[in-house]
Amino acid sequence: MKIIYSSKHKLHNPAYEVYDMQQAPYAEVPERIEIIAKKFRQENAGEFIAPKSFPISHVEKVHHKNYIEFLKNKSKSLKPTDNFFASYFTTDTYAPMTKDTFVAAKESADIALTGAELLENGEKLIYALCRPPGHHSGAYNMGGYCYINNAAVAAEYLSAKGKVAILDIDYHHGNGTQQMFYDRDDILYVSLHADPREKYPYITGFKEETGIADGVGFNINYPLPVDASEILYKKTLQQAIKNIKKFNPNFLVISAGFDTYIKDPIAAFKLTIPFYKEIGLQIASLQLPTLVIQEGGYFVSDLGDIAWSLVKGLSFC
Ligand SMILES: [Zn+2]
Repeated sequence: MKIIYSSKHKLHNPAYEVYDMQQAPYAEVPERIEIIAKKFRQENAGEFIAPKSFPISHVEKVHHKNYIEFLKNKSKSLKPTDNFFASYFTTDTYAPMTKDTFVAAKESADIALTGAELLENGEKLIYALCRPPGHHSGAYNMGGYCYINNAAVAAEYLSAKGKVAILDIDYHHGNGTQQMFYDRDDILYVSLHADPREKYPYITGFKEETGIADGVGFNINYPLPVDASEILYKKTLQQAIKNIKKFNPNFLVISAGFDTYIKDPIAAFKLTIPFYKEIGLQIASLQLPTLVIQEGGYFVSDLGDIAWSLVKGLSFC
């Protein structure tokens, strides 16, 4: 396995989010990535690689140019202590901008792209330690701790070489990713997540959302009870794996969120650390070149063990 990592994510460290009109601690903290990187180093999980810098045109294939310009210029204009909430280009109050948000978000996208390029060149398993995460960021919006959609940027890059399946196992529906590929038949999006009637992002993630135009049938949502058990999760994942097998892609991108963990402070699924190995084994059964993109997960002290458990399953491929 190769691991793509950069310390630049630490530059993005917002002071707070706004929840129910109140300032609340920002859950998407730099330690999230550091603890996974530390665990991977301890376990000799693989070779650490720094990201290459890719032209912004790769990002602008899935994001609106005006949005990216805004993200870049507004970030740069902020003072080091600013915690700025955009109004026009955001879907919620969970993605404030700081002075270096663009620098960190672009580096995160470069981490994903570096992984995608390695996959294209024949690597079988890449772990992209992306932060900030991406799957709630749509063509022209930030939201839910996300600014640039790393998984989508990587999938778009890989789609030039073959069909791509994205399997999203974060607790929340990847509304941004769904939106970007909703009319495409060359990129399959499959997501297991908490029922959006009760959980963020609330407005998307329903099973009736199956795609439009050429994309009909290439968007598959599995909303689950907000406190889903491992048994139900496993059964649903098996179904998702079947969907991917049928699609017969050349590449697999995993939006790997660990807020499905039983102790996660903002979620309520019941998945335990050993169960992530089971998830990895099921994914490995597809025998596809696989790019893991880090998304959410907020019980920080256990994130390294969760990621390592997932990798132990994936490594069987
Ligand atoms: Zn999440």
